[in-house]
Amino acid sequence: MAAEKIAVTRETFDNVILPVYAPAQFVPVKGKGSRVWDQQGKEYIDFSGGIAVTALGHCHPALVEALKTQGETLWHLSNVFTNEPALRLASKLIDATFADRVFFANSGAEANEAAFKLARFYACQRHSPFKTKIIAFHNAFHGRTLFTVSVGGQPKYSDGFGPKPADIVHVPFNDLEAVKAVIDDHTCAIVVEPIQGEGGVMPATPEFMQGLRALCDKHQALLVLDEVQSGMGRSGKLFAYEHYGVTPDILTSAKALGGGFPVSAMLTTNEIASTMSPGVHGTTYGGNPLACAVAEAALDVINTPEVLEGVQARRQQFVSALQTLDAKFDLFSDIRGKGLLIGAALKPQHAGKARDILNAAAAEGLMVLVAGTDVIRFAPSLVIEPADIEEGMARFARAVERVLTA
Ligand SMILES: *Cc1c(COP(=O)(O)O)cnc(C)c1O
Repeated sequence: MAAEKIAVTRETFDNVILPVYAPAQFVPVKGKGSRVWDQQGKEYIDFSGGIAVTALGHCHPALVEALKTQGETLWHLSNVFTNEPALRLASKLIDATFADRVFFANSGAEANEAAFKLARFYACQRHSPFKTKIIAFHNAFHGRTLFTVSVGGQPKYSDGFGPKPADIVHVPFNDLEAVKAVIDDHTCAIVVEPIQGEGGVMPATPEFMQGLRALCDKHQALLVLDEVQSGMGRSGKLFAYEHYGVTPDILTSAKALGGGFPVSAMLTTNEIASTMSPGVHGTTYGGNPLACAVAEAALDVINTPEVLEGVQARRQQFVSALQTLDAKFDLFSDIRGKGLLIGAALKPQHAGKARDILNAAAAEGLMVLVAGTDVIRFAPSLVIEPADIEEGMARFARAVERVLTA
């Protein structure tokens, strides 16, 4: 079929794509900063950020420049060779964090897969082949490979795919006593998101995170932080662990790491990394020069006081607009999260309406996210213009009004 004959519509999506998504009816074709346009030229303000990915908005000049320059220089080598962008990005991530070593992959799930395999491998090498238990949390989300979806805390996502990896225990989030009840010397790792993203934008309490660190130390288990959503400036610090005064053993980053270019990283220490050797783990695209060049440019922009401090001011603008809306409509039971990962939980009388509000927002020219059926989630660009926040929140207010008066 000639390309010009293909109708680029939601209907075609339904005919050609594996039916695992239900995208919006409109098809975005262009983005600049925090504005997006569809095929009809209708303009949207983007509070969704590609699910916490486009942390510098759409087509940020520094990222476009990095992509163009690298695109004309060297695209791919494989792991048979190393390359300059990968070494530069790894060095900068190490300088900016607790880590000594970096493994690059392509998605959050793959970074987590590497993290969980490393935690088990380390325990097996240093302690015992029976030290395999992984403790994880209800409502956690770690990706869609069979291992990561099994460590995730929503069984509906892993049911139906055959036998799951064994020795994974789930307990309630923010419940230290529940962790104490299941942790033992056969535990190799606790895996946790400092702010549960998909699970409803729920931050860990400081006591919980500090308690997990102490329990890991007591039982010689590794603390694995999944910062795929909470990292890269989203919380107002480069990584959310910096808010808690705890140092992880392994940390994963993806989503905003490439600002929209697929790339992920697993960070760890020399001691843990030293159990691995050539051939033990790997991936074809890991450390791809294009991906690393764009991620380096994103890191250079995000890891600056201007951008990180700007996150806090922008959060304030979002939260006060949401509070104004709440005062008018008695809408929210909680406005939570950290930095520019914001969850607005609907009151019981509005339960189940998050998706309706999302759809009404699209009609008003606004892209938002949900997290479950009762939480509206905002994950905008970290450098969104205050004027765009103001206009977007005006559109959001109209969308809410539309749903409540329907
Ligand atoms: C999105 C997400 C993942 C999975 O990332 P993919 O790139 O979709 O594989 C893992 N963990 C968290 C916390 C996430 O938000």
